[in-house]
Amino acid sequence: MNQIVIDTHLHLDSNKYSNPSEAADALEQDRKAAGIDHCIVLHLLSQNWSKEEFSDALSDYPSLHGFVNVHPEHSNCLNDLEQAIKSLQFCGLKLHPRLQEFSIGSASTKALVRRAGDLGVPVLIDAFPDGTHIMQGFDALSYVKLANSCPDTKIIVAHMGGHHVLDFVMLAKRVPNLYFDISYSFLYYRGSSVITDMIYGMRSMKFDRIFYGSDYPDRGLKATLDQSIAVFDQHTVSALEKNKILYSNASEFFGFS
Ligand SMILES: [Zn+2]
Repeated sequence: MNQIVIDTHLHLDSNKYSNPSEAADALEQDRKAAGIDHCIVLHLLSQNWSKEEFSDALSDYPSLHGFVNVHPEHSNCLNDLEQAIKSLQFCGLKLHPRLQEFSIGSASTKALVRRAGDLGVPVLIDAFPDGTHIMQGFDALSYVKLANSCPDTKIIVAHMGGHHVLDFVMLAKRVPNLYFDISYSFLYYRGSSVITDMIYGMRSMKFDRIFYGSDYPDRGLKATLDQSIAVFDQHTVSALEKNKILYSNASEFFGFS
């Protein structure tokens, strides 16, 4: 039997396509070809597609589900989020502190993340510590402080925190509303000890609260899936454990059946 897969971290391709409908159609073709059941597609303000255009583009495809990107320091952000969730079929909030250049510890970020919890939707926050992010003061503790101050909001730490994965995992054991996706990092750090650390982190969390993601279109859907499964197999991750990461954790979290 083929493994059922949910990809919880990908984007529309704005380099190749000038409008979101074409990009969504291309993603849908790739999704079918890769045999992926559901996709969480992250809207980005930097792509210059409004949330309305983005939502409209996804609306033709019941397997594509959007997370809206708003800026925590914009005066209308609470209303923008509420409108996106209540009227535009978005099912979560995406935040990118590095690209959007905001402080994860600010009062406005807390207010926005709390509002997501009030609206019953999760928040996915970029946590890839590249040189820029480290220079901006990347710190696992800031994510955890935010999670602690918004206990009713489920927070997904994207990319499993990159090479800070061990700090994140140790902290997640104390903070029940923290979740992870393994996108990008799981292949980016191949050849380094970070992959072993990610697998160690998954094992120490009993493979709970961790989701698969590809970060398409930076990486191809099918190639990323095949290569990720190969890494799991190299580390003798069992079929049951793989199923939790690739499918069942996300299907329960997002309520897909
Ligand atoms: Zn991404």
